[in-house]
Amino acid sequence: MADETLYPLHVGITEAGSLYSGNIKSAVGLGIILYRGIGDTIRVSLTGDPVEEIKSAKMILRTLGLREGGIDVVSCPTCGRTKIDLVSLANQVETMVQGYDLNIKVAVMGCAVNGPGEAKEADIGIAGGNGDGLLIKKGQIVRKMREEQLLDALRQELDQWKK
Ligand code: SF4
Repeated sequence: MADETLYPLHVGITEAGSLYSGNIKSAVGLGIILYRGIGDTIRVSLTGDPVEEIKSAKMILRTLGLREGGIDVVSCPTCGRTKIDLVSLANQVETMVQGYDLNIKVAVMGCAVNGPGEAKEADIGIAGGNGDGLLIKKGQIVRKMREEQLLDALRQELDQWKK
């Protein structure tokens, strides 16, 4: 169809399922289609809150490099070095950054040993320690603070970004 017509094509994986399975099917299916240059508008179809469909659609487009804007949050998978509740912290950061229209990458890392180095591709990041934590920019440590201050410190940095 895409080869034979100039009509815009609306693509999506219909009845993809719940949040978990629907997101995976949509990401794989839409990823293959869009990567081939097919599709002018998309729909992520989930059995769940429609707001999640929009968030997933934006994430798919950003991951494919087809959309700019919005903060990309990366976080480490945790390991034996993790001494903070990184899952909770990463979720809080994900929620917090939705209010910012910045085209940057934010890292949330589990330790001060490898966190800064592993976050060097990120514009800014935080790394948990053992009761304390670090603020990082491009892999360089810029400030040390108590663990409970990390989220606020990151928020302040994002508020000041490019001002
Ligand atoms: S950043 Fe630290 S806690 Fe996270 S995976 Fe790497 S070594 Fe483990």
